[in-house]
Amino acid sequence: NADAAMYHAKELGRDNFQFYAPEFNSKTQEKFLLQEELRDALARAEFTLLYQPQVDLRTGHVFTVEALIRWNHPSLGLISPMKFIPMAEETGLIVPIGDWVLHEACRQNKAWQDAGLPPMVVCVNVSARQFKENNLISRVVNALTDSGLEAKYLELEVTESLIMQNIEAAVATMNELQGLGVQISIDDFGTGYSSLSALKTFPVARLKIDKSFIKDLAADENDQAVASAVISLGQKLNLRVIAEGVETDEQIAFLRKNNCDEMQGYHFSMPVLAVEIVQLLNKNNAIDGV
Ligand code: C2E
Ligand code: MG
Ligand code: MG
Ligand code: MG
Repeated sequence: NADAAMYHAKELGRDNFQFYAPEFNSKTQEKFLLQEELRDALARAEFTLLYQPQVDLRTGHVFTVEALIRWNHPSLGLISPMKFIPMAEETGLIVPIGDWVLHEACRQNKAWQDAGLPPMVVCVNVSARQFKENNLISRVVNALTDSGLEAKYLELEVTESLIMQNIEAAVATMNELQGLGVQISIDDFGTGYSSLSALKTFPVARLKIDKSFIKDLAADENDQAVASAVISLGQKLNLRVIAEGVETDEQIAFLRKNNCDEMQGYHFSMPVLAVEIVQLLNKNNAIDGV
């Protein structure tokens, strides 16, 4: 029973992990250690935001950038959000980390404006746990107030699967955000089984076609069908559509032919430091070159 098991664990002590198979042991320990370090990473200022431009497919201009977090671990180097965001979700650390991301992205965007760049929208990814916190709205208001950024220059990216967990609650929260003047986009669109009737009630500005549909776009007819269906759906619902993970000329040709509005991907730029965004914009918005 539980008491006996706990007693047994205590008796073994913390150092008796060798009870398990070695791989299990080291994997579990690695995760445990990383979780402990994640707890201190904010205080140690180990997070950075990179920014990836999103490009208008008709004009070649950049009007939006997506903020993407990186963890600069003292001994392991840069750790991908794919690895630590799920951990942060599990432990609840995503709430303070997400708060930092919101503040930092708003601060940076206002700093770009103050430096004389044409105003852009900064997109911030919001995870499920963060979205469901009942004080999300006041956290967003705080980030805007502290930075002095106007609400219309902030966009929140929520995933389709997050919305589908509880459509009614999600729509209520999205309506409140929209009331503030913040824009909303649906990330990873196509992977989360939205019903079309629900989609038309979402107060969103953009759909982001998931990069899994873009990867083999040049050759895969199923991906072509999905991509062109999402684009025409967006047109009919009056939403802009952006393709993520765009790497090749062939993908761009397909997206242009099908009247996709925007793209984001390594073909134009990797996620880069804030200073590199300034150089990129000066170059690109001046000479129009996708
Ligand atoms: P996402 O929001 O769908 O972001 C797009 C991901 O695609 C980013 O990965 C980006 O670096 C990558 N990407 C961009 N262009 C290309 C391309 O041409 N080819 C390929 N193969 N990949 C491309 P990243 O930065 O590793 O982020 C992964 C995921 O982690 C994000 O997916 C998002 O779900 C999450 N994430 C990142 N930053 C944050 C954050 O601040 N808060 C939260 N809650 N989640 C975040
Ligand atoms: Mg995103
Ligand atoms: Mg995405
Ligand atoms: Mg994704």
